[in-house]
Amino acid sequence: MKNRLRYLIKKYFERRAVVLMYHRVAVPEADMWKIAVSPENFEQHLQVLRKTKNVISLQDLVEDVRKGKIRKNSIALTFDDGYMDNFLVAKPLLEKYKLPATFFIASGNIGASAEFWWDELEQLILFTEHLPRHFALEINGNSIVSDLEQEAHLSESLRQLNSRWDACEEAPPSRRCALYYELWRCLKPLPEAIQQESLQRIRAWTGVPKSVRADCLSMTKAQLQELSRNKLFSVEAHTVSHPALAFHDRLYQADELLRNLQYLEETTGYRPSLLAYPYGNYNEETMALAAASGFTAAFTTEERPITKHALLYRLGRVQVKNCAAPAFTALINQWK
Ligand SMILES: [Zn+2]
Repeated sequence: MKNRLRYLIKKYFERRAVVLMYHRVAVPEADMWKIAVSPENFEQHLQVLRKTKNVISLQDLVEDVRKGKIRKNSIALTFDDGYMDNFLVAKPLLEKYKLPATFFIASGNIGASAEFWWDELEQLILFTEHLPRHFALEINGNSIVSDLEQEAHLSESLRQLNSRWDACEEAPPSRRCALYYELWRCLKPLPEAIQQESLQRIRAWTGVPKSVRADCLSMTKAQLQELSRNKLFSVEAHTVSHPALAFHDRLYQADELLRNLQYLEETTGYRPSLLAYPYGNYNEETMALAAASGFTAAFTTEERPITKHALLYRLGRVQVKNCAAPAFTALINQWK
């Protein structure tokens, strides 16, 4: 009993570091996965961090875990995917407050005139003005059928309803949102080639020609290079096509990791040493491959702080939502 109490007290006072996870610093038309933070709120976060925390680079934090010595109050900032707003909006603010950050880059869209598949799907299903009433598509053996009824036409109220949807917390509030969710779930585990081919078929069904929204682009190669040259920042790995790795065989996983590594090394001049699993999705094979590929640590999206006992290939992170200073302060103090 005494030992147990001693253990609990020790555990309670164990130093904890936090790694924050951002994706976009923008105000997009919809944000059902709650991955966008407005520039105003983001600046407030940086002000809070500057005043109250010891913001260190992710490399230093990983080194601390390896040495078994977590620094007091330490926190690190990460950005996933490589959206252009990271370069245009987040970078200048991070420079203004002189705060280090790590950018995990899905390299397939760097410099491409293309949206990520989930953004394109969102635009097609939720915001196309007129859709055929009936949807029926076979994707990888799954038959997806929907009758949009009066939602075939996008009324202003439906547009607002779709824009406000929080898919993490709420059931789909409209037929269009339900169809989006079903397609998203079906497409997420598939290889990129099938995702892209399915998107083409969905686009053909909408009858709308392909268009790319400027605010959904990834960085250009030149932007990524400029970002990597700043000593405050590091560019790290997030695969090529952003697959849910655990759904793929070893060869597919290895290919995604290695091509991403090669691209980033050639572009930035240094070899990434850290990896973030797309969607936080991984299995034993992924962790073994990460270690074999030379990564010193890998990050999930599992929400937990980091202690000196944390496992290096499944380090937790905390997703930051679009909130102002008070809620952000409460979020980061949860793990004090
Ligand atoms: Zn990602």
